[in-house]
Amino acid sequence: MNTIDLPSLANATPTIRNDWTREEAAAIYHAPFMDLIFRAATIHRQSFDPNKVQCNQLLNVKTGGCAEDCGYCSQSAHHDTALPASKLMDPKEVIEGAKAAKAGGATRYCMGAAWRSPKDRDMAPVIEMVKGVKALGMEACVTLGMLSDDQAKQLKDAGLDYYNHNLDTSEEFYPSVVKTRTYGDRLDTLQKVQDAGIKVCCGGILGLGEKPTDRVEMLRTLANLPKHPESVPINMLIPIEGTPIAETATPVDPIAFVRTIALARILMPTSDVRLAAGRTAMSDEMQTLCFLAGANSIFIGDTLLTTPNPGENKDRALFDRLGIEARDDLGVHSHG
Ligand code: SF4
Repeated sequence: MNTIDLPSLANATPTIRNDWTREEAAAIYHAPFMDLIFRAATIHRQSFDPNKVQCNQLLNVKTGGCAEDCGYCSQSAHHDTALPASKLMDPKEVIEGAKAAKAGGATRYCMGAAWRSPKDRDMAPVIEMVKGVKALGMEACVTLGMLSDDQAKQLKDAGLDYYNHNLDTSEEFYPSVVKTRTYGDRLDTLQKVQDAGIKVCCGGILGLGEKPTDRVEMLRTLANLPKHPESVPINMLIPIEGTPIAETATPVDPIAFVRTIALARILMPTSDVRLAAGRTAMSDEMQTLCFLAGANSIFIGDTLLTTPNPGENKDRALFDRLGIEARDDLGVHSHG
C-alpha cells in the first residue's frame, strides 16, 4: 500500500495533468482507502459543490440490430438476446421525451442510436433531434458510433454539446470485449469530436472480467488525452442473458468500484464523473461513497437504454437523505 501526502492538498487549486504514468495512477488506485477518499473528496471540492449532482436522462432513439459485437451489449446483432431491432425514432417523439425529462429535473438529454456509425441519411433526423432539445433550453448529447470529420462538424453546427463514445476498458483488455473495431478507432472518433469543438463524454464499464490494472489504464488513457473528457461515465455491468460477457462476468467489489470513481476524480479534477448504468445493483451506501469519492452526475429515469435504472422517487429519497440537490446548470428550476 502507498501513502499520499494529504496536507498539501487542502488549499490547492486543481492541477490538470495529461502525463500520468502507469505507476502514479496505480499507486493512487491502491492507496489506503481512507487516504484515497480524502484526497478525492478534497480535489472534488476544489472545483465542485459536493452537495450538487448533475442529472441526465437517456433515451434510446434507435434500438438493436447493431453491427458491432460489444460483448456486454443486448443491442448487438451478433448476440442472441431477443431484443427486437427498431428504426430510428421520429424526432418529434424524441423531443416530447426531452420535455418530460426536463420536467423531471434533467438538464441534459442524451440520445443513443445502436449504430456502428451513422449513414449520411441518418444525419438530418438526428440534427432535428439535437436542435429540438436545444430549443427546450437543455444540453444535448448523442452517441451514434464512429463519426467522420464532416458528421462531427454537422453535429457541432446543430448545437450539440456532448458526444458520448466510451473506451469501455483498457487498450490491452479491449480485444476481449469488442472484436469489430479497435481501440485506435475509438480514439480516432474522440479526436474528431474534440477537433469539431464538441465536449466529450467518455468512460467505461466495470465487471467485464477486467483486472484492476485495466480500470486504472482506461482512466489514465482518458486523463492523458490532449484534453480531458468533460464527462466520464463509469458503468457497473448488468449482465444480460445471451451476451458473451454474461457468461464470464465477475461481480465488482463495491470498494473497488469506489476506488475507480476516486481515481477518475483525482486524474480528471474538473470533469463530471457519472455513476451510469448499474445503479440498481448498488446500495444507497455504495452510491453515497461514490458521491463522497467525487461522483457528481447520474442518469435519472426508470430505464437506461435497455436496462433498469432506480427511477426518480428512489433518487429523490436518496438525495433528500444526503442533502444533495440537482445541479442547475441551465438556470432552470430543477428538483432537489
Ligand atoms: S455498445 Fe453500442 S456499438 Fe456496441 S453493440 Fe451495443 S449499440 Fe452497438
